[in-house]
This record gives sequence, structure tokens and C-alpha cells, in this order.
Amino acid sequence: MEPRPEVVAALIQKVLEELTAGEAAKGEGDGLYPTVNDAVEAGLAAQKKLIGMSLERRKDIITSIRNNVLAVNEELSAMAVEETHLGRFEDKVRENILCATRTPGVEDIEPRAHSGDHGLMLLEYAPVGLIGSLTPITNPTGTLINNSIGMIAAGNAVVFNAHPSATRTSTRMLQIIHKAIVDAGGPVGLVSSVRKPNLDTAKEVIEHPKINMLVATGGRPIVNIVLRSGKKAIGAGAGNPPVLVDETATIRKAAQCIASGAAINNGIFCTCEKEVIVVQEVADSLIKFMQETGRVYLLSPEEAEKVTKLVVTPDRHINGAFIGKNVQVILHEVGIEIGEEYRLAIFEAEPDHPLVWLEQMMPILPVVRVKDVKEGIEFAVKVEQGNRHTAIMHSNHVEHMTAFARAIQTTIFVKNGPSYAGIGLGGEGHTSFTIAGPTGEGLTSARTFTRQRRCTLVESFRII
Ligand code: NAD
Repeated sequence: MEPRPEVVAALIQKVLEELTAGEAAKGEGDGLYPTVNDAVEAGLAAQKKLIGMSLERRKDIITSIRNNVLAVNEELSAMAVEETHLGRFEDKVRENILCATRTPGVEDIEPRAHSGDHGLMLLEYAPVGLIGSLTPITNPTGTLINNSIGMIAAGNAVVFNAHPSATRTSTRMLQIIHKAIVDAGGPVGLVSSVRKPNLDTAKEVIEHPKINMLVATGGRPIVNIVLRSGKKAIGAGAGNPPVLVDETATIRKAAQCIASGAAINNGIFCTCEKEVIVVQEVADSLIKFMQETGRVYLLSPEEAEKVTKLVVTPDRHINGAFIGKNVQVILHEVGIEIGEEYRLAIFEAEPDHPLVWLEQMMPILPVVRVKDVKEGIEFAVKVEQGNRHTAIMHSNHVEHMTAFARAIQTTIFVKNGPSYAGIGLGGEGHTSFTIAGPTGEGLTSARTFTRQRRCTLVESFRII
């Protein structure tokens, strides 16, 4: 349930009052600094202090972050929707719970040991030092929680630079995380940012000689920029996840999963189903069952054409004004009024339809029919476009699933569930909101933000 506008207004007012109080307390350090250089110097000093502390204290810091972000979850979720105009309040709340509770902590850097005829070898995961993290407009709270926990658990400090259109929410979240760290006995400046992040400060973060590693969560251009930086860089880029449904699938369940997965947060998760590819034989049933969820509106061909003209520009780009909006808002623009219960609009599309190929990030989902599963796999691989991000399949045929997974080579491959199961929401495994497809680290966690060190003890400590 989305809160009423007056509740949202009250929540935001509360956050703003606390923000002003935070400004007053900045003399003690609230994680925000006037310049990138100040943030970097604070981060370096804080990281030195962190590695001088016990692992038990590091665990306390992580626990404090988890608890404190959960305590302000509703306020910050409301603020994110209000500031960015993207996504849904209740899904932002879920995102933050997921990041606070399912991001691995210090246990993720447990050392490995091997003993043999020549003695003992110990492999330890050491910090990289100071990390620069660029965070996206789509997840201004979740990415900060997720990155902070993972990077600090690995013994690092981090300088964040948020998307310019999400600075109020991001800097507020940073202040909350910073206070949680300091309250747990951690160092001032362990997470930091400039007070007003923008593209110029992002460039400074990328180029700063004292930042050892860069992490970019965003579109392909920023991933390419950090990869060209000459530093160790982790790129978590865009996706265009296809969902393939074959003739052996449990169709009603597939319909429910797709309706839910594609609509979460109005489609702005990078993992959301962005186009349905369905074997002809079961296409009608799939569409009927999606409608029967009561949350999916089927656009007629004429309506679909109007919506396409609205959300796709003449030069085949997504019209940013409709990214992350509720389906009612989008359809209203072309004169279609639907009830509040709807979360998604679907339409039958030809294979070359722009919304099949573009990452639309809105609750408008094309459905493409294919002759058989072989054609479906070939087409899905093409529309994923080598992002190596996410793919979903509904099938009860092990060989079909194996063939698709092998062909598409995505970082996340979800079988018989909604896309978000792949990030740990109703599926096994940890969560990450920095899914590194382009650079191959996968669902990042503390271990990703480390350098490996081997320690060898020769001819001792083999005791069997
Ligand atoms: P974006 O690429 O516009 O921005 C991401 C970050 O990079 C922001 O902090 C932004 O300020 C910075 N940035 C962008 N261009 C820059 C430039 N030229 N110089 C310096 N900094 C620059 O992405 P977005 O619109 O904020 O987020 C949506 C995109 O992110 C989607 O494509 C989505 O799929 C992707 N995403 C990926 C993941 C993942 O884990 N792989 C997670 C969330 C979002």
C-alpha cells in the first residue's frame, strides 16, 4: 500500500528537520564534506583507524548500520520517491529491508587455509583501501546501504558520489549510515561524500589519485568511463532482461511471476523482466493468466501504438519523463484510465519493437511470440545484447533451461520465479544492488572489495 500524500509529506518533513539538525552537528562530522579532497582525506584517515580495530568492532559497526537504516526505512523510501519521481514507496521499503538484512558482512571475508606436504598456506582477503562509488538514481538508498555494508565489512572506507537528481535522499542516507558507524565506535569519515554531489565531483572521484578502486552502478557510459580510468574498477551496468516461457511451463505460475517481477518498483530494478518471449502454443494462455492476476492491463494494438509514441522518442530513445512512473500515470497521458489495482500494462509486440530492445524501466511490457523454444532462445540472446545481466525462464524441461542458461551467459539466471528472486527476494543467496556483469564479479559482496594475500608457512603446521 502506498501511503497517503499527507503521510508522505509528514515523513519528508520529519527527515528534513533531522537533516537540518544534522547540518548543525556537522562540526563533529556527519560524513559530508565541502570538497572531494576533504572527503578523500577523511576516508583515508578513517580507513587507517578501521584496520586498527578488531573484527568484532567491525561486526558491531555493520550491525549498527543494518539497524539504523531499518529504523528510518519508511522516511527514506518516501523521500526517494518524492525526490526522484521513480518507483513505488512499498517497493523501496522492500529494497531497503533486503539490503539491510541480506548483504553479507564480515563473514564474507573468512580466510581460506590449505595444508599439504610443504606446510600451510593461508589466503586472506585484505582491504583495497579507499573506494570511490558512483550510485544510480534508481536505487539511491539500497545501493548506499548495500555498498556501505560490503565495503566496510572488507575493511575499506568509501567516498560516495550520488546521481545529481537523487542527492537529497542519498546524502541523508549517508548521514544516517555515518552516524550508525560513529555510534558503534567506528571512525568519522568512513563513509563520505561531498555535500552536493554532481557530475564534476564524480569526475574528481574517478580521477583522484588516492582512491584505489572505483565502483560504478549505472548505465553503460559510466561503466565505460570507470573502466578507462586506469584504476581497478567494478562496473555494474544496464540490463534488458528477457523472460522466456516455453510450452512445458506451468503457465499460470509463470504469468503470476512475470506480473510481479516486471512491475516491482515500476520496472526500475535493473533485474526486472523487460520483455516476454513466449512459445506460440502457450502465448494466449500466458496473456489470459496475466490478465487474471487483476494487476495486468492488456493494451489493444491501437492503445499500444499510442503508448509507444509517448514513451519512445522519434530517434528510438526512452522518454525519461515516464521512467519509473505508475502505469496509471503513463496510460492517462494517452487517454486510458485504469483502476488503482493495476501495476503493469502488456501488449503484443513484433520482434523489432523498440520496447523489446530498449531498457524501458517502466511498467509497460512487450510480449513477443516465437515458433518454438529454439527460436525463443536465439531471440532472447539477441535482445539481452551481451549485457550479461539477467535472464528468466519458465519451463519444466531441464534441457531447455540448460540450453538457455548456456546460450545467454547472464550473471543472474532465474528459473520458475520472478526476476527479483535472483537478488535474494524470495530466492536463495545474498543480495546485491551492484551486479557486476560487465566486469564479471557478479553479485558483489565484501569479498569483491578486497585484494587477495597469500601467507605461506613452510614445512610446519601440517599436523596429520
Ligand atoms: P547513470 O549511468 O545515469 O548514473 C549512474 C551514476 O554515474 C550516477 O552517480 C551518475 O551521476 C554517474 N554518472 C553518469 N554519467 C556520468 C559522467 N559522464 N561522468 C561522471 N559521472 C557520471 O545511471 P542511472 O540512470 O542513475 O541508473 C539507471 C541505470 O543503472 C540503468 O541502466 C540500470 O540498469 C543501471 N543499474 C544497474 C545496476 C546493476 O547492479 N547492474 C543496479 C542499478 C541500476
